[in-house]
Amino acid sequence: MLIQCQECGRKISDQAKFCPHCGAGVSIARGFSETKRMAGIIVGVIIGITGLVIFIHTLDPTPISTFAGIQYQKELSDKINQLQIFAVLIFCVGIAMTVYFNRSNIKK
Ligand SMILES: [Zn+2]
Repeated sequence: MLIQCQECGRKISDQAKFCPHCGAGVSIARGFSETKRMAGIIVGVIIGITGLVIFIHTLDPTPISTFAGIQYQKELSDKINQLQIFAVLIFCVGIAMTVYFNRSNIKK
């Protein structure tokens, strides 16, 4: 598997101890430590799930609309639409974070 050297930016083998181009230690090029990577993935998953939960709640707005009263239906549906877009965004950020941290993995 090829990784990018953080010193010179060239592709190098993750098996190499030093970058053959600039001599930088590959431990630097590997980027995130395992702990940081796992933390990033977990936070990403939590953010993704949060977005998903918000989205699922917006699909069944009956309890809120009953509480708010019929005259607020239009305003409420606008708010729910905004909330759905927001939820999708949060979900995407979570997925992107998970993928990003997962890709900077250390294959041993
Ligand atoms: Zn290098």
